[in-house]
Amino acid sequence: MAARPGAKAEKARASIALACSICGARNYKTTKARRPGLELLTLKKFCRDCNAHTQHIESK
Ligand SMILES: [Zn+2]
Repeated sequence: MAARPGAKAEKARASIALACSICGARNYKTTKARRPGLELLTLKKFCRDCNAHTQHIESK
């Protein structure tokens, strides 16, 4: 079981996209800690399509 360099970071953070909950546009990309049972990340962000601040939900 030889762990390669870089495998650790991959495991610790999951890269996700944030999609607008109104129109579904994926406006942002971020990372979050990978923890089982964690609720979907939601953030209030500006959506260009809606031209307003809307709730953005984690999406892959
Ligand atoms: Zn939108």
